[in-house]
Amino acid sequence: IVTEASENLQVECYVIGGFVRDFLLGRGNPKDIDIVAVGSGIELARKVASKLPGKPQVSIFKNFGTAMIKHGDLEIEFVGARKESYHRDSRKPVVEDGTLEDDQKRRDFTINALALSLNSSNLGDLLDPFDGIGDLERKIIRTPLAPDVTYSDDPLRMMRAIRFATQLNFTIQLQSLQAITENKERIKIVSKERIVDELHKIIASKKPSKGFALLHKTELLPIILPELTALEGIEEIEGQRHKDNFWHTLEVVDNISETTDNLWLRWAALLHDIGKAPTKKFHKKIGWTFHGHEFVGSKMVYKLFKRLRLPLNDKMKFVQKMVLMSSRPIVLSEDFVTDSAVRRLVFDAGDNVDDLMTLCEADITTKNPRKQKKYTNN
Ligand code: ATP
Repeated sequence: IVTEASENLQVECYVIGGFVRDFLLGRGNPKDIDIVAVGSGIELARKVASKLPGKPQVSIFKNFGTAMIKHGDLEIEFVGARKESYHRDSRKPVVEDGTLEDDQKRRDFTINALALSLNSSNLGDLLDPFDGIGDLERKIIRTPLAPDVTYSDDPLRMMRAIRFATQLNFTIQLQSLQAITENKERIKIVSKERIVDELHKIIASKKPSKGFALLHKTELLPIILPELTALEGIEEIEGQRHKDNFWHTLEVVDNISETTDNLWLRWAALLHDIGKAPTKKFHKKIGWTFHGHEFVGSKMVYKLFKRLRLPLNDKMKFVQKMVLMSSRPIVLSEDFVTDSAVRRLVFDAGDNVDDLMTLCEADITTKNPRKQKKYTNN
C-alpha cells in the first residue's frame, strides 16, 4: 500500500531506523515503523491512510513535519527526508529538506541509519552508506558522523548510545566512548524527562549493570545520579574495610532483573543502599557502620524522584518502602513473614508481593560471604 501511495505521489520512500535494525537482529514485536519520504511525509501519510481499510485517522505534527497512522497495535510514522544543523545551546535542530542520504546522516548510530526501499524499482534493497550491517554483525555502536559532532549536537545521544549498548549487549566504539566523556557536561541541556526515559530503558534491560557501568565509565553518572557514584570505593581504617556499595548495588540490580520485570522494584534495588554514603561511620570498637541508612535512603529517594521529575506517586512510595526495609529481611530472613513490620509492608505492597520477596532474596544472595569476597578483597 505504501509503495502504491508513494508511486501515486511520485515520491521515493523507505523504512528507516529501529524497525530495520530490529528486523535484521530478529528482535521481537515492532511497535512502530518509521517511513521516510523524499518529499512530504504528511502527504504520503494521507495517501496511505486513504488506501488502508477503515481509512484510519492521520495525526499530524506540523511543527515536526511528521504524521502518524495507528494501524492495529502498530504506529506508522511518516517524515520527509531532512538535513539538520544545530545551535550550541539547543537540542532542537534547524531543518531543511534533504535527500535520503542527508536523512541517514542525521541519524544517531550507523545501526539506526539503515533504510529499506519501498520503491518498486528496487523494492527491499537495503541502503547502508555507513556500514550499519557490519556494525550489527560486529555488535558495535558507532556514529555515522564524527562522534564529537554527533554527541555535541544532541547530547541525548550519549544516553541513547549507552541504552542501546545495554539493550542489545553491544560495545560502544572507543572514539564514541571518548567523545561521550568529553561532552558529558552537555547532558545538562537535555530535559530530565528524556534522561529518565533512557534510564528506564537501561533499568528494564536484561543486564542493567552494563548500562550503569558505562554511565560510570563515561562520567555521566555523577551528573545524573550522584547518590549512586557516592557509594563507590572502599575505605580502610585500622585494617578494616567495608564492601564497595556501588558495585554491590549493580550486582543486586542484575540479580533482581533475572527474576522480575517490575521496573519499580528494579529502581528500588538500584537505590536500596543510597543512604549508606551519608551515614558511613567508623567506630573503634565495631568498625564500619551505616546505621540508619534505610531511613536516610528513603528520604533521599523522595529528593531524587523530585529532582528527576519522576512522579511523586504510589510508585515512588513503593520504592521508598523497599529502600526503608532493604536490610531488614536479611536480618529476618529465616522468619521473614512472621515479622509484623515486614508483614505490614508486604501487605502495603499489594500486587507486588512476589517482587518484594524477590528483592529480599536478591539482596540475601549478595550478602552471601562467598559472593561478597569478590567485591571487598577483604
Ligand atoms: P526504540 O523504539 O527501541 O527506542 P528506535 O531506534 O526505534 O528504538 P526511536 O527513539 O523510536 O528509537 O527513534 C527512531 C529512529 O529515529 C532511530 O532509529 C534513529 O534513526 C532516529 N533517532 C531517534 N532519536 C534520535 C536522535 N536523538 N538523534 C538522531 N537520530 C535519532
